[in-house]
Amino acid sequence: MAPQIEIVEVSPRDGLQNHPTLLPTRDKVQLVLKAVAAGARRIEAVSFVNPKAVPQMADAEAVLQGLKDEADLPAQGVRLIGLVLNRRGFDRAAVAGVDEVNFVVVASETFNQRNQGASIDQTLAQIAEVVPLAAQAGLGMGVTIAAAFGCPFEGEVDEAQVGRLAAELASFGVAEIAIADTIGVGDPAAVVRRVGIVRAAAPAARLRCHFHNTRNTGLANAYAAWTTGVEVLDASLGGIGGCPFAPAATGNIPTEDTLYMFSRMGIATGYDLHYAIDAARWLGERLGEAALPGMLGRAGVFPPSSPGERRGAKICVAGHLEDAGSGRTP
Ligand code: ZN
Repeated sequence: MAPQIEIVEVSPRDGLQNHPTLLPTRDKVQLVLKAVAAGARRIEAVSFVNPKAVPQMADAEAVLQGLKDEADLPAQGVRLIGLVLNRRGFDRAAVAGVDEVNFVVVASETFNQRNQGASIDQTLAQIAEVVPLAAQAGLGMGVTIAAAFGCPFEGEVDEAQVGRLAAELASFGVAEIAIADTIGVGDPAAVVRRVGIVRAAAPAARLRCHFHNTRNTGLANAYAAWTTGVEVLDASLGGIGGCPFAPAATGNIPTEDTLYMFSRMGIATGYDLHYAIDAARWLGERLGEAALPGMLGRAGVFPPSSPGERRGAKICVAGHLEDAGSGRTP
């Protein structure tokens, strides 16, 4: 089988949660649908957090309802993920009808308390509580270890701490564990070490990596993760993103740039790069930004595509999503 990597699209959640522009619900729905048209099959679409703290995510339930009204996403094999920070968020997510829940625990005590108003131990206790509830409800369940490479408040994060958290999560039966560089301070060698530590601590869990490109090491880190056998990466169309509780946080690795790198390496992503670029450009327009951080939107694909290939992408720009799938290579 050809090598492949799964890209989880996180722009609707990580991307929009920190942006000064409050996108209307219908635009959030369109963003998810454009990601689907580009080939995304797992999408972190919403978060269930305090709307006073993160007003950008206040309409999570309405976004999910809008998606149900617009498209039969389960029939297309699409799984929508909702991010939660506590039991209350989990209960909202279960009622709102996500396919998967992504719980967060932060590797540093100070950041965990600022991000979710609880200690690490309290957060772990809530995760242990919801793992069986998610299973009963038929929901996928992952946990992201945030700030696993460094903390904006405490500085260096000990990799042994990341391993301890992974071991706890494994003991609860968490199926997927993500290692997140929330503030973009990681480097490829640190990625290789942390993946090794987490894999040893949680051998049964699927590993996912979540990189921010704050210091321009994002794609190098993504490649390093790939070399260690990690098969799931988070990425964000246009490279938007950031954490409202992490000072000076910037965007995730851009989906389109990540797709370009892996597809040139002969690694299948399941996406169509043209559609992804067009979705990122559309997002830039909606956010009122001349250029998002992603580079492919400016540079274009290589080798240059034929006019026939471009036609499908133009249909996508016009918004006729029912036509958009027809010309797409899987
Ligand atoms: Zn993030």
